[in-house]
Amino acid sequence: MESKYSILLSLLMLQCLSLLCVSQSQDFDFFYFVQQWPGSYCDTKKSCCYPNTGKPTADFGIHGLWPNYEDGSYPSNCDPNNSFNQAKVSDLISNMQKNWPSLACPSSNSIQFWTHEWEKHGTCSESVLSQHGYFDTALSLKGKTNLLKALTSAGINPDGNSYSLVNIKNAIKGAIGYTPWIECNVDESGNSQLYQIYLCVDNSGSDLIECPVFPKGKCGSEIEFPSF
Ligand code: 5GP
Ligand code: 5GP
Repeated sequence: MESKYSILLSLLMLQCLSLLCVSQSQDFDFFYFVQQWPGSYCDTKKSCCYPNTGKPTADFGIHGLWPNYEDGSYPSNCDPNNSFNQAKVSDLISNMQKNWPSLACPSSNSIQFWTHEWEKHGTCSESVLSQHGYFDTALSLKGKTNLLKALTSAGINPDGNSYSLVNIKNAIKGAIGYTPWIECNVDESGNSQLYQIYLCVDNSGSDLIECPVFPKGKCGSEIEFPSF
C-alpha cells in the first residue's frame, strides 16, 4: 500500500516538474529591436501627425522591443494585470519623447504608443525586464546603435534617392557588426521605401546577436530613403 502511494507521489512530482518545463518553454528566445524612419511613416497615403512636443528630430525612432520565438512566432499581451504606468518610467520620459515619439494621428503625447508597446510586447518579457527595465533597455539599445550614422557614413542619405538594399544592409552590418532586417512600405506614389530596421538582441536584452530568424516580407532591390 505504502509503495503504491509513493509511486503515485513520484508521478505527481514528475508531472509538476514537466509543467514547470512547459511554462518555461513558453518564455521567449530573443528580441527584435525595431526602429522606424519617420520620413517613411509620414509620406504614405495614411500620413502622420507630430506629437505635441513638436516635429521629432530627423533620426530613426524606436518602434518597440519585441520578444520572439526562434520559430518566427511570438507571444503577445502576456499580462493584463501589468498595465503601463507612467510613474514607473518618470525619469525616462524626456528621453522617450526624443527617441520613441509617436507619429500616429491624431497628435498625442506618445503615451498611447508606449502603452501599446508595453502591453502587447513588454509584458511578454516581464520575467527578465521590469517595466522600467523594458523602456530603459530599449533606450540604451538605441544609444548603442546609431543607424542613421551607419547609413550616412556609407553615403546613404535621407534625400529621397534610391539605394540598393544590399548596400543598406552592408552599411549597417559594417558599422554595427550584425545583419539587420529591412522592412519596406510604400509612399503615396507606390515606391518601395526604407520603413523599419530590425536588429536582434539576446533574451536578457543586453547584447545584439545575429537574428535566429528573420521576419517575412520583401523590399525591392532598390529602395527609396525619403527625407524627413
Ligand atoms: P505587421 O503585420 O504590420 O507587420 O505588424 C503589425 C504588428 O505585429 C507589429 O507592429 C508588431 O507589433 C507585431 N509583429 C509583426 N511581426 C512580428 C514579429 O515577427 N515579432 C513580433 N514580436 N511582433 C511582430
Ligand atoms: P504594432 O504595430 O506595434 O502592433 O502597433 C503599433 C500601434 O501603435 C498601432 O496601433 C499604431 O497606430 C500605434 N502607433 C502610434 N504611434 C506609432 C508610430 O509612430 N509608429 C507606428 N508604427 N505605430 C504607432
